[in-house]
Order: sequence, then C-alpha cells, then structure tokens
Amino acid sequence: MIQPVLPRSATLSWRVQWPLYMTDGAFDATWAFLRRHRRAVDEVAFFETFSHHGYLPLDLYRRTADVLRRRMATLRAGGIRHVGINVLTTVGHLNEAWDVLPPLPFQPMVGLDGAVSKSCACPNTPELRAYIRAKYTLMAEAGPDFIWVDDDLRMHYHGVAWACACPTCLGLLAATTGRVFGREELARALEAPCEGGLRRAWLEQNLHAIEGLLAEVAAAVRRVSPGIRTGLMTCGPAWTTYSGYDYGRWFGALGATKARPGGGFYGDEYPIGQYGKALEVGRQCALLPGRAADRQYELENFPYTSLGKAAGTVVSECTLAIAAGCNGIAINALGMSSPHDRFADKEALARRIGQARPFWDRLVRATDGLSTAGYWPAWRADLLGRRPVREGESWLAPPLCDITRPEALGCIGLPLAAARGDGGVILAGRIAEAFSDDELQAMLAGPVLMDAFALDVLAERGLAGLAGVRVARWLDNGMAERLTGDRLNGPAAGAIRDIRPEFWADPYLRSALLEAVTPGVRVLSELENLLGERVGPCVTAFENGLGGRVVVMGHAPWRFVNLTCKRSQILAAADWAVRGRLPVRVRDAVPLVPLARLSADRRRGAVVLLNAGLDRVARVTVELRVAAARLRLDAPGRAGTSMQARRTPHGWIVTLRDLQPWCAVALVL
Ligand SMILES: [Zn+2]
Repeated sequence: MIQPVLPRSATLSWRVQWPLYMTDGAFDATWAFLRRHRRAVDEVAFFETFSHHGYLPLDLYRRTADVLRRRMATLRAGGIRHVGINVLTTVGHLNEAWDVLPPLPFQPMVGLDGAVSKSCACPNTPELRAYIRAKYTLMAEAGPDFIWVDDDLRMHYHGVAWACACPTCLGLLAATTGRVFGREELARALEAPCEGGLRRAWLEQNLHAIEGLLAEVAAAVRRVSPGIRTGLMTCGPAWTTYSGYDYGRWFGALGATKARPGGGFYGDEYPIGQYGKALEVGRQCALLPGRAADRQYELENFPYTSLGKAAGTVVSECTLAIAAGCNGIAINALGMSSPHDRFADKEALARRIGQARPFWDRLVRATDGLSTAGYWPAWRADLLGRRPVREGESWLAPPLCDITRPEALGCIGLPLAAARGDGGVILAGRIAEAFSDDELQAMLAGPVLMDAFALDVLAERGLAGLAGVRVARWLDNGMAERLTGDRLNGPAAGAIRDIRPEFWADPYLRSALLEAVTPGVRVLSELENLLGERVGPCVTAFENGLGGRVVVMGHAPWRFVNLTCKRSQILAAADWAVRGRLPVRVRDAVPLVPLARLSADRRRGAVVLLNAGLDRVARVTVELRVAAARLRLDAPGRAGTSMQARRTPHGWIVTLRDLQPWCAVALVL
C-alpha cells in the first residue's frame, strides 16, 4: 500500500485548467503567476480537459498528455514538489455543449423518469470502462505524481436527475435481485412503501457502480506506475445520499490517499453559505477512511467571475474548512479561459492566500487528527436506504429530511459537530426515521435537542416518554411563542418571538402544542395566538430515567432563531442538556459562528469564530470550556494580537475586540 503523505502544514494546491497550459503563451503566463506567489504553492494539478462532457476522442488526450509531460517537468525543475493531473471528466458532470462536442459513443445515463443524458455516460457498460481505462492509462503515462478523479462519479444530477435505468443497469438489478423490471415499473416500485429492500438494492447498485469504476481507474494507473498517488473528489450527503457514499469502499477501490471534499459555495451573494459548506465538508471528512490523510478543501470560484467572490471571503471560507477537518486547499480560482491579462485580476487573491498561509499552517498543526466538537445534527450516509417511505411521499425528495436545517443553531453560536461524539445530538424533521429504536434510545440517554417532527417519530416508536412530552395538536397559523419564567430563560423570560410562520411557506414552521406525558417536564415557551391568548407549551426540557436531558422545540426552531431572547434560551437549554459542557459560549448577542476541533481531554485544538454579520464586533466575551494551560488568538496577520484572558475552573473567559465583518479568528489551545 502507498503510504499517505501526512501534512505538517496546510497543503495549498492550485488547479490549472486546460486552456491555461496547452499553448506555450498561456503556460508561460500561468507559470509566471505561480512563481510570483511561490509561498502559496505546494502542489499543482493540471486538468486534462476543457469540458464536463463525457466524451472526447482519445487522440486529444494523447496530445494533452504529451504537453502535460513537458509542463510537469518544467514545474518540477522550478521547485514544485508535487505535480499531477486532475481528471475533470470521467463519466461526465452534466449536459454541456452537446451540440458542439462529439456525441457519446457509449450508453448514456438514463434517468428513472426516462430522460436520457446528453453528456454523461452510464458507468457500468464495458464500452465506457474500456474508454476510461485507456484515458487514465494515457494520463498515468504522462508521469504525474498523483491523479485526481473529479466529482462526476455520482449517480445523480447528470442532466438526468436520478440515474441509471439504462438496459445494462436494469439487467444488473435483475441479476442481483432476481426481479426483472422495465424502467417505468422500477420507478414506480422504488416509490412504493413496501419496497424498502428494493430501494436498498438500488442504492447498493449505485454505490457499486462507482466502486467498480474506481477499481478500473486504479488498475489502469497502477499498471503504468504503482507509485502514482490517487485522490477522489466528492460531493456531500446533504445534497442527497442517492449515490451510496460508502467512502471506505470508494477510497479503498481507488487506493486513494488524497481526498477533496466539496460542495457548492461559489460567490458572495449568500456569504453564510461558506459555513454550510464547511459543515458539509466536515461530514465528508467524517466519512473518510484513515488512509485518505491528505484532505484538500474545494475552494471553488466557478465560473470565475473575478468580482464574484472577495479575496477576504476566500480566506474566511478556507479557515472554516480547515476548522471543519481539512488540512489543505485545492484552489480552483484561476479561471478556464486563456489569461489575456496575465492574471492581473487574480493577483490580490493569490496575495491574500499567501498572507493567510502561515495562519492556516498553524491551524492545521493545532487541529489535525482531532474531531469537531459540539452538538451533532444527526445524519447518515445511507439515509435514503434506511428511512421508510409513506404512501404518497417521494422517496427521492423525502419530506422533512433536510440534514442542514440545524445550521440555524450554529449561526446563533451553538457549536455543531460533523460526526457523532459525546457533545449531544440534534434530531431535525424526520431524520430520526433512519435510526433504529436502539440507536434512538442510546441518543436519548444523553443530551438531545429536537423538533416536534422528530418527537412524532419517537412517539411512533414508543420512545416519546424519554422526551417527557407528546404532540397534542399541530397548528399552522396565528401562533407566536412566549418565553416562560423558567430560569433557563434568564433575563429573556416573558419575551415574545413573533415570526409570522404563515409568510414563509415552509413545512418546518408548523407549530406543535406539546403535552407532558410524565411529571417533571419544564416548560420553556408557550404558544400564544395573535390575540394574545395563551395556547399551551411548545418548548420543553426534561431529564429522563436514562439520565438524558431532552429539549423539544415545537415552534420553528430552524429559522428566525437569531433574535436575542430566543438565542439566549436555546443556548442556555443546550448547555443545560450537556450539563454545562458546551465547548464554547459566546456571551454577547452577536452573530459569531463557532467551529470547534478539540481532543477528547480538551487540552488540544482550536475554536474558530466567524463574524457572520456586516457590522464590526467591537467587543465580545467568549467562554471556552477547555483544559488547556494556555490560549492564544490567531488570524491572518493577527498572530500574537493580545486579548484579555482569564482562567476559570472550567477553562477560559476571553474578551475579543474589533472582529471584522465576515472574517474568522481562531482561539488556539
Ligand atoms: Zn446504466
């Protein structure tokens, strides 16, 4: 087995598109740019094609490989230690330029709805596999140090939504299940409540299709040179778990030591998207086998509109990604057109990346190998196969199964974890359906925050007693929430949260009137109607007989919680449930978003804080419950910046000043 390269600092890898190196003029400009920013360049990966379309003649790749051989030699001679190839297109990403490029000479992907992809090939046919072996052989013969397989290895979103129901794939399903389906019949059967076994067989076929293709890629590359490292680029489970997502099998089949977890965050229109992407990348890191030790974040500025994403955004999003589990950055920012201006519009970005690198190096050294700490919003990689389908529901777009909803709590300061640890569980919507009774009971023996949809799932399983309440009635209009005098509400007692749920057409915003099923339930909020009349409990806290502390939030807990009173209630209740062990508490009502990576004994690690607002935070007090003997503030260009810090029996209380909008700082243990 090839030993993974263990980074002692952040690996900065630049991805270079085809038009930026194929001609001598373009390459000279690109190489000059990389040399100008040498301290921000550890690794360079050249794309093998200019298109996401699944087929171009092998002759083109032969010519490309010849050019690549020369380009890689130049870079190595210039001191770049790791130079390789990023195979952008294996089966095809989506429908692109189908009227312009040659049509696929092999079976295209077919959706369950009968749509036929114009650009993406079925991964299971022998014709495609022979082509892929030949293509990767050509790339390996060019002599790269590594080869990436890009993230078109998925069975969803290929110009057809859900693939692949071509004759080859229907035949494979018949061979493994003994059941012969036509495409329409299969599509109907997959939606039938009683067909859980068929759904799991279909997902296994998806998983295996990718695993098989990766094994072919690995064999082709190893045949040329066993020393070429391989890497797999992935998309995250929040999009869908349709493609299988058993990273142990995929990375094993490819023999991959390099990983590039990804997701969508392309520009500044929706800046909080960088936090959602960091969590999605964290989930992918949590799925990675140990062999994939080189974990490069997908910094993606596609389609490279140079004013579309600020250099400062890039710095903060990469900081969050490292905090979420990455130890490198795959930088896709140079664009896909020949550099007419010699990258003048990319200078500022590269400079900022170079300035941030010492900070990222320190952050990687402080956190590598550690887990994210905080509440874990429950999810699983086999979600679609595990949850039941009800009559009339869509299997592939299941209602109330969005694993990203709890991010709203991260945005008010609750640290969220990518993988299950000992920091508590969040059950949102119907995700709980994908877990067994035993798994749910084990969760309920510890700290749990949940909404009333999850409570309904627990009630169906006979487990609602562990939450202390049941849903007495659902209400969908005229409701607001009044915080009670319970001491968890502190100074927010009596405040009202009036968010007019009717406005937002969001199924998660229904309100649940809760009813205690056992003594000892504390009521933290009550529903109040628009006439000011008390309706009854909607937020409760309860310690059950297993020792678990359970908070049920029955009134819109995943949106519009960013108001002072609600923020204060949720954070106090969450901290109560973990018995005062939340790793970080932001004491003031400011929009600081935390990401924490800590060792189990809390002596090592870091807590990153993003100012997710357009106001400068002039002063904020933050409490860290950590066992570290010292603490330092770190950020790009702020190493050694002083802060006020005071030891407490449980850790540290620090005062931070002058946190700039959409910038991140780290408190390093
Ligand atoms: Zn197929």
